[in-house]
Amino acid sequence: MVITRFAPSPTGYLHLGNARTAIFSYLFARHHKGKFILRIEDTDRERSTKEFEDMLIEDLKWLGLEWDEFYRQSERFEIYKEYAQKLIESGHAYPCFCTLEELEEERKKAEERGVPYRYSGKCRVLSREEVEVLKRENKPYTIRFKVPDNTMVVFEDLIKGHIAINTDDFGDFVIVRSDGTPTYNFVVVVDDALMGVTHVIRGEDHIPNTPKQILIYEALGFKVPAFVHLPVILGEDRSKLSKRHGAVSVRNYREEGYLPEALFNYLCLLGWSSPEEGREIYSKEEFIKIFRLEDINSSPAIFNKEKLKWLNGVYIREVVSLERLVDEFIPFLQKAGYEADREYVRRVLQSTRDSFETLKEGVDRLKPFFVEEVSYSEEAISVLENETSRIVLEAFLQRIEDIDLTQEKVKEIAKEIQKELKIKAKDIWHALRASLTGKLEGVGVDILCSILPKERIKKRILRALQLYS
Ligand code: GLU
Repeated sequence: MVITRFAPSPTGYLHLGNARTAIFSYLFARHHKGKFILRIEDTDRERSTKEFEDMLIEDLKWLGLEWDEFYRQSERFEIYKEYAQKLIESGHAYPCFCTLEELEEERKKAEERGVPYRYSGKCRVLSREEVEVLKRENKPYTIRFKVPDNTMVVFEDLIKGHIAINTDDFGDFVIVRSDGTPTYNFVVVVDDALMGVTHVIRGEDHIPNTPKQILIYEALGFKVPAFVHLPVILGEDRSKLSKRHGAVSVRNYREEGYLPEALFNYLCLLGWSSPEEGREIYSKEEFIKIFRLEDINSSPAIFNKEKLKWLNGVYIREVVSLERLVDEFIPFLQKAGYEADREYVRRVLQSTRDSFETLKEGVDRLKPFFVEEVSYSEEAISVLENETSRIVLEAFLQRIEDIDLTQEKVKEIAKEIQKELKIKAKDIWHALRASLTGKLEGVGVDILCSILPKERIKKRILRALQLYS
């Protein structure tokens, strides 16, 4: 059975790159009817917080991911201790009493000689007795993994292909810190092995860690899993996608009014070639059906914010159901301080869902439907101050009494005014728009009039007419 996992560290918001890693791990497991595990990697006690953990989980659920098993590394310290002990007993690991100053000194020397730093292995040769003495003196120590000298570690990455790294590039590394907490490269192996993970899917920034992990697998007699390193996501300037590029967390996009389905869909397209040339819209279920590692590109993907926004617009316009759109839209309305009943929101969105690309943009654009009174922009005021506008508004007001205002009816009335009073169509629509929305651009006046309660239409026009008195 295929078993994959997503293993975030709760040290920040869920980054788009990590979200894509989670999605690909999830899709691969589901495609093979396997198991998907969520494992919180919180061994770094200083940087991990419960708040970030909660938010990661919330954002993953929001994206539509669900997992079969859940683990938290901070609850598994006993297990790691046991395996660290095993490594010491089998001669694969040893206590290292070097102080930070000594290590710093070694690092400096390497720098002076212009060679990459690696630990000298000084404590490798301590005898059992020497170790006992130092321990009795309460000298702090770390536990290091004993790395064989000048050995090639090779693996076949399922995306990146053949990778070979020489052990001299890294040397003996710490697996347990002096405060007793185990390090990432060690616990990741223990967990992946005990949890039966068959495919380790993660970002390519972890490639340099992989040989260290392979050595630990072998030392513990575990089966080495398949490795799948996903290419990085770059910004449009081709540097690694980071905060410098603006919003990079799932949370940001959620708050901006992106739909989870759209973000999910977009992230899948990043670095993955659709087997159906040109097709870009897929549901989660469809992705599960067709997802193959072979379709992941080995070169970096470029994040295109405009494209994501466009795709979100497509989802708002035509992919999600009207009911679903209403569900998603209402909290945004409330957050902006507007109230409206569901039926009214549904009517508004039915006619306007093609006019915005994010929910936040929608709330902003559709304000005239939800506020009691509008506020005028400067341009709107100068339009309303025209004598022509006054004539238009008075004529319009007279004609809408006792009429059911449909979009067609509004257009008819505008035509009548145009003919009878010899006023240009543009001036008519400008006057109506300025009085009803307070602006010169935005939602269609005919749509607005067909939905806004008549009382409110009249009130807005009367208020605009007051500008002349
Ligand atoms: N906690 C690691 C990270 O967030 C996990 C890496 C891995 O998947 O092995 O990068």
